[in-house]
Amino acid sequence: MKATIDALLRIIGEPHLNEHIAFDAASVPDPQRFPFSIDDAFLLCERLCNEQALKYVGAHANRRPRFAILDSASGSAYAVWTPGTADDWVIFSTALFQRLYAQCLLVGTALSSEVSFLPGVDTGVLTEIRSVVTNELIPSDLVVELLFHATITQIVGHELGHHAYGHDAEYAKLGLSAAPDEATEWAASLALNQSDLDLHALELAADHSGLEWLIGFLSGYKDDRIKSLLLPSHRRMSFCAMAVVCTYAGLGAKAWGKSEISTGKHPVASIRCYAMLRLLRHLLRVASGLQPADNLDEAWWGGTFLAADVIGSFRLMPTLDEGPDASSSAFVVTLHDSLDMVGLKRVFFDEATLNPYLAELHKRWKVLRNRCRPRWRVSEPLPPMPD
Ligand SMILES: [Zn+2]
Repeated sequence: MKATIDALLRIIGEPHLNEHIAFDAASVPDPQRFPFSIDDAFLLCERLCNEQALKYVGAHANRRPRFAILDSASGSAYAVWTPGTADDWVIFSTALFQRLYAQCLLVGTALSSEVSFLPGVDTGVLTEIRSVVTNELIPSDLVVELLFHATITQIVGHELGHHAYGHDAEYAKLGLSAAPDEATEWAASLALNQSDLDLHALELAADHSGLEWLIGFLSGYKDDRIKSLLLPSHRRMSFCAMAVVCTYAGLGAKAWGKSEISTGKHPVASIRCYAMLRLLRHLLRVASGLQPADNLDEAWWGGTFLAADVIGSFRLMPTLDEGPDASSSAFVVTLHDSLDMVGLKRVFFDEATLNPYLAELHKRWKVLRNRCRPRWRVSEPLPPMPD
C-alpha cells in the first residue's frame, strides 16, 4: 500500500513523470479499451468533486477537491493529500471502473431481461421495475449505465467523505498521506488494537458519505425515463440496494468461512456492504414519510437479493478451464449459495458477532470526529446502527 501511495504522490507532484494518470477528460486512457464511456465516467467524477468544492467553508474554502484516473490493473480508489498544497485528491483506477462495470452489467442486464427471478428474490417490486423498463422502452444499456454511475458515485462519495470529514488529521498521525487502499482486506475482530479500530471507524464514516452521495445521485438523475423509473421511493430504494451490492462486489466482497472469524481475517467488504445496506434501509425509512414502510422493506430485500443472486450465481458458474463438459453440467444455484458468494449470508446470519464490532466502530468515530478537521460542518455523519 505504501509503495502505491508514494507512487501516487510522485505522479501528482510531477505529472510529466508518468503517462499513466489522467488529470482531464482529454487525456483519459484510450476509450476503445473499455466497454463503457470512460469519458463519461471521468466527467461524472469531476462533477462530483466540483459539487464537493462548493460545500467547503471557512479556512477550507480555498481547498480544491480534484479528480484523476490512474491507469492501473490494481482495482482501487484513493483519497490522497499532497503535503503543502490545497488539493484533496480523489484517484480512481481504470481496473476499478472495469470491475464495477462487470457487476453492473450482470445485474442491469438481468433486470432488463425476460429470465424469471429466483423464488425468494422477487418481492413484486422487481417485476414492477421490469414492466416500467419494458413499457417505457428503456434500453438495457441505460439501466446498466445508471447502476454503473451509481456505484462510481458511491465510491467517489466515500473518498470525498475522507476529505470532507477531515480524516487527514488522523492519517497524518500514522504517517499516511492517503487513506488506505479501498480494496485492501481488513481484519475485523474485537481483538484488533485501538489504532486498527480507529482506521475501520474512519472507513465506515467515509462509507456513510458514499451512501449519501449515492442516494443523492439516484434522486437527482436528469434523464426523463430514468426519473420516472426512480420517482417512487420504493423503486429508488431497490436501485440503491442493488448499487450498494454491486459496489462492494466490485471492491472484492466474497464468501468467508466459519473458521476465519476466529483468526480475525475476513474480508471487510462484506461487512461494509451489510452495514451500508442496513443504514440505507434506516435512512430511506426515515425520509419516506408517504410510503408504507413494508413496501420499502420489500424493495430493499428485492434490490439486495437480485444483485447478490446475479453476482453470486455468476461467480459460482463453472469456468471453461474446468473441462469441456463444465458448461453443460447440471448446476443448481440457490439464493443461499449466491448470498454466500458475495459475503452476505454470513453477515445476515451472524449479527451477534458483527453488531458489537460495528457498535465499537461507532463509539470510536464519536471520539475521532472531534480530532478531525472537517471541511464543512458535519453534524452527525454516523447515526447509531439501526435495527
Ligand atoms: Zn476509504
